Amino acid sequence: MYIIFLGVPGAGKGTQATEVAEKLKLVYIATGDLFRQAIGGETELGMRVKSYVEAGKLVPDEITIKMVLDRLSAPDAGRGAILDGFPRSIKQAEALDEALGKESKAIDKVILIKVSEEELLKRLGGRWTCPSCQTLYHEVSSPPKVWGKCDRCGARLYQRRDDAPQIVKRRLRVYFAQTAALIDYYEKQGKLIEVDGKGEVAEVSERITQALTQGEFVAR
Ligand code: AMP
Repeated sequence: MYIIFLGVPGAGKGTQATEVAEKLKLVYIATGDLFRQAIGGETELGMRVKSYVEAGKLVPDEITIKMVLDRLSAPDAGRGAILDGFPRSIKQAEALDEALGKESKAIDKVILIKVSEEELLKRLGGRWTCPSCQTLYHEVSSPPKVWGKCDRCGARLYQRRDDAPQIVKRRLRVYFAQTAALIDYYEKQGKLIEVDGKGEVAEVSERITQALTQGEFVAR
């Protein structure tokens, strides 16, 4: 069972994809997380991708495809996987189809989480993180009691580098220029399911579960 989560950065893909992975007991593979871990660990891969990730640009296809296919060939991904943040270009999608096809496997469904651009700028642009205890805040929806300070541990909050407003705008541009083409790609394959991403996490999650169960897919 292979399910892809598509949607603009900030659509809530990560949160929703993690939940579905838990429900279906499948591994969760998020390319953004893998890249950030590599950068944090200062590995060779991390060094190669750091400048792209921090600037909000796509990491070159060759590097990304290799990383994902290696991860998919690990034993824990033998039953399938939930993919978040991959593919992000047609080339990546084709490489994935080809690699799965060689093993007589295929992508089953693609969930597209839809959120308006206005909402996204609000969500991503206002996100602040505690460097010490990792608590997340939002300028509008969940601000700290004292501006710039973590309620829990008092540390000074920071913005993920690629959450800075100008980088967020670029990440959205990159999405519309390169990743949005995947909507068509998977629609033509009859695999696309569109889900409204507005509202509480639980509401969106319920919509996704319903969409997946409607097509006898989960019961298989
Ligand atoms: P994300 O956490 O999914 O927003 O990803 C953070 C950053 O990692 C992106 O802005 C890109 O720089 C890089 N990245 C993640 N997934 C991919 C991908 N499939 N192809 C190229 N770059 C990626």
